[in-house]
Amino acid sequence: MKRNKVIVIGAGFAGLQFLQSIEKDRFDILLIDRLNHHQFQPLFYQVATSQLEPSSISFPLRHIFQDRKDIRIRMTSVRKILHEEHLIRTDIGDFPYDFLIIATGAQTNFYGNKEIATHALKLKTTHEAITIRNTVLTNFERLLSTTDEEEKKRMLNIIIVGAGPTGVELSGAFAEIKKYVLPKDFQRIDFSRLRVILPRLFLVMTTEPMRVSADCSLGRQLRPQHALEAPVEVL
Ligand SMILES: Cc1cc2nc3c(=O)[nH]c(=O)nc-3n(C[C@H](O)[C@H](O)[C@H](O)COP(=O)(O)OP(=O)(O)OC[C@H]3O[C@@H](n4cnc5c(N)ncnc54)[C@H](O)[C@@H]3O)c2cc1C
Repeated sequence: MKRNKVIVIGAGFAGLQFLQSIEKDRFDILLIDRLNHHQFQPLFYQVATSQLEPSSISFPLRHIFQDRKDIRIRMTSVRKILHEEHLIRTDIGDFPYDFLIIATGAQTNFYGNKEIATHALKLKTTHEAITIRNTVLTNFERLLSTTDEEEKKRMLNIIIVGAGPTGVELSGAFAEIKKYVLPKDFQRIDFSRLRVILPRLFLVMTTEPMRVSADCSLGRQLRPQHALEAPVEVL
């Protein structure tokens, strides 16, 4: 009997959860993602602070589904959905579907703040986490040969925009490496001058329930950092 074609776009939490829940061998399933691996987003902050290797939070899709003969995988970007024709258009061609599941996740929300959108680094993909890591470490390398005091001061400020759980985790992790890791790796830099700043101001961009949740996280997460004597400055 001919099986219905199901296309799932996105191998994030939602796409994977759907595929693990759907009855096995009932449909002819095509999983499409622009990456060939699942990214475990909750630990991006550890990659961004050099505490974890990217491979530790990347799970190859072909390995996850190696026992599922009903699931084919294609690595490509979906460009268009041709609803009338029941087709999706991708960089490697068109694919027909009977049922379409769109699980493409979200993008970083700057809440309309163009300055932040232009100048800040994002944290929504493994690639972006690596970019944060490389930028911070490259700054420390540059610091060693910089003589301009103002520039040195700038390079020793890490400002985190977004004081929700991720911002709190990220600032806590930077405070941790400031105390335990960086002074050993860069012995000629005075890391007592490194400031990890988490402006509470950005909480005004969130809704009331989000503010309450972020405040709770701040309370939970910052206490251990004070105990480490490597506090995050909450301005
Ligand atoms: C830094 C960070 C920390 C987090 N921490 C937590 C936490 O501790 N606990 C918690 O519960 N949640 C946490 N979250 C939220 C959680 O990770 C998300 O809610 C969840 O990943 C959303 O799942 P999703 O499947 O909807 O989207 P995603 O996981 O974003 O997956 C979307 C997938 O679609 C693919 N895709 C997108 N567009 C296309 C396209 N056009 N063509 C092909 N493929 C495409 C992407 O490559 C991606 O693989 C965190 C998120 C972030 C960013």
